[in-house]
Amino acid sequence: MTLQDVQSFAHGKWIPVGTGARSIENAVTGEVFAQAGNADLDVQAMLDHARDVGGPALRKMTFHDRARMLKALALHLGKHKQALYDMSFASGATQSDHLIDIDGGIGTMFVFASKGRREMPDAHVYLDGEVEQLSRNGTFLGQHICTPLQGVAVHINAFNFPVWGMLEKLAPTLLAGVPAIVKPATATCYITELAVRIMLDSGILPAGSLQLVSGGLGDMLDRLTCQDVVGFTGSAWTAGKLRSMPHILENSIRFVAEQDSLNSSILGPDAKPGTPEFDLFIKEVQREMTTKAGQKCTAIRRIFAPKQHVEAAIEALSARLEKTLIGDPSNEATRMGALVSNDQKRDVLQKVDIIAKEAERVFGNPDSFEVSGADAAKGAFLPPMLFHCADPDKAERIHDTEAFGPVSTIMGYDNLDHAIQLVNRGQGSLVASVITHDPEVAKNVALGAGAFHGRLYFNNRDSMKESTGHGSPLPHMVHGGPGRAGGGEELGGVRGVTHYMQRTAVQGSPDILSAIGNVWVPGSVEKKAPAHPFTRTFHELEIGETIHTAPRTITIEDIEHFASFTGDTFYAHMNEEAAKRNPFFPGRVAHGYLLLSFAAGLFVEPNEGPVLANTGLDSLRFMKPVEAGDDIQVRLSVKKKTPRNDEYGEVRWHVTLTNQDKDLVAEYELLTMNAYEV
Ligand code: NDP
Repeated sequence: MTLQDVQSFAHGKWIPVGTGARSIENAVTGEVFAQAGNADLDVQAMLDHARDVGGPALRKMTFHDRARMLKALALHLGKHKQALYDMSFASGATQSDHLIDIDGGIGTMFVFASKGRREMPDAHVYLDGEVEQLSRNGTFLGQHICTPLQGVAVHINAFNFPVWGMLEKLAPTLLAGVPAIVKPATATCYITELAVRIMLDSGILPAGSLQLVSGGLGDMLDRLTCQDVVGFTGSAWTAGKLRSMPHILENSIRFVAEQDSLNSSILGPDAKPGTPEFDLFIKEVQREMTTKAGQKCTAIRRIFAPKQHVEAAIEALSARLEKTLIGDPSNEATRMGALVSNDQKRDVLQKVDIIAKEAERVFGNPDSFEVSGADAAKGAFLPPMLFHCADPDKAERIHDTEAFGPVSTIMGYDNLDHAIQLVNRGQGSLVASVITHDPEVAKNVALGAGAFHGRLYFNNRDSMKESTGHGSPLPHMVHGGPGRAGGGEELGGVRGVTHYMQRTAVQGSPDILSAIGNVWVPGSVEKKAPAHPFTRTFHELEIGETIHTAPRTITIEDIEHFASFTGDTFYAHMNEEAAKRNPFFPGRVAHGYLLLSFAAGLFVEPNEGPVLANTGLDSLRFMKPVEAGDDIQVRLSVKKKTPRNDEYGEVRWHVTLTNQDKDLVAEYELLTMNAYEV
């Protein structure tokens, strides 16, 4: 049988398999069918290509350009996913496993595309947080900015999610403006290679922004600089070895690790048998044990139930696990396929032996189980195995052994504090779930266990229909965890993008900060508009363009009219004596919303024009009360512009209201949608 060659894509060329190639096994048949690797790969040329060609091309683009690129890539991958499904069966995965890997990966890319457009600017610098007031008169300010690292991201991925594992790291990296070199685990790199080919063939990516190493990395990590990042997913052992390389340590090269994790699930003290929560718990645990044959970084390894319900939980879980049809993953009826390789199966069985020293196997026998449509002796099949540990306090290895397969251990707890203590003995995990209908239970777990877990997942009868599952890392939410889980953090929306950027504190005058951030900062130069800004299109408007309106005097009739018209007859507007007794007011004062309405009346340009709609108002503060007889005057400045679609964009205006003494009365940000053309 001729072996399929899995190639690398380096410095713009596909590189064939060469010396030092590693063989790859079909998980279902156990046969070697492919090979990958080439010891002669020119890793320095790859790094140079990324740094000199990919990086500059990506950095020329704005966040929005890169977000559009991600969307196009995701759409393109979506059109070719059948080929990815077809190829993935050889890894032992079923069609529903493919949905997590392939559709999940594409979905992650879509979320980053959308977040890039909605939450990041159409610019090159990302502003992190608000301007900091560092001086009394506002002439010296501070702002945190993020700019893309000028190196390359080396992504070392695990075997279990060859597509999602790549895309969940690639999407934030590209959005940040950083090129990537992807190194998938050899066991499933043939699937990643196909996904990379699909992306490269689309022509959507700039040259140098994506390269692939199938097989070994050579000495690439020894050639990294402080501008590079390593993103790693895999075993704690490999993570420890790589992150402690002297070159990585000496150069403070960012190393983000996601590694072994003993995730757990707690059945809440309130969730007795017969409640919807009990059934939900059984369902979630069974799903996590069998999806991807338990080869999920978030799979539930330790199960905690109130002592008195352990027996019922074992019974219910066993009844569900009994229905798991194991076999050929390409068969639609199959519920659980094979592990990725016979090596991995051996590794799981070794870990099972360790667990068996402290727990009793109550379901599943690796020496006797049915496999449908495949040869159990040749493929990397295992049955789901449930263990019961009767003394979790004394046990040690239950709390530190990850069998990376369909294996889980149930144990009883006395009370919630005991459950929290046991769940934290995993010494850091990616996710812990709690199935409870009692918010107090949730609150206590959040306080007692939050610090040990990257994600806490609460579910019950109210949320179960729409919940996303214990095991699903979502692009919006942080994925990673302390201690045993690697101490890293990925995803989490824009947070995940900033891992590939440098956060820099910049300090200077308002004009300096406005120029760097492309956002008008109060105190910087006001540009005089050639016409009323509401007559100018989105693209004509300039950051800092400002108008000052004429003043308007507020009368007692205005206040009374507004009160009777709106029904807002709060005493501070209507009753002089009562208002005086209030420490905030000198006497009767104008309604804040009256002032806002008058402000709109002062700055608005009434004719049909490029302003399409007023879509919101942010950060409103009333600073000083306005009494009858006071004047108000408005200043309106273009603070920030964000294109939204092909027709219009959002303009954020900084608005201040001052009185006759130039004291600040109110301040807010007004949002309008402005057309590109009229
Ligand atoms: P490894 O740690 O062996 O491999 C992870 C990645 O690191 C692979 O891409 C691997 O490549 C690469 N790698 C290994 N050695 C080096 C090196 N010296 N330099 C550069 N890259 C290297 O983990 P496995 O994928 O083999 O899985 C083993 C165990 O890891 C599992 O049984 C499980 O316990 C744990 N695991 C945990 C995950 C989690 O997210 N919590 C996910 C997956 C695995 P190659 O394949 O070519 O060796």
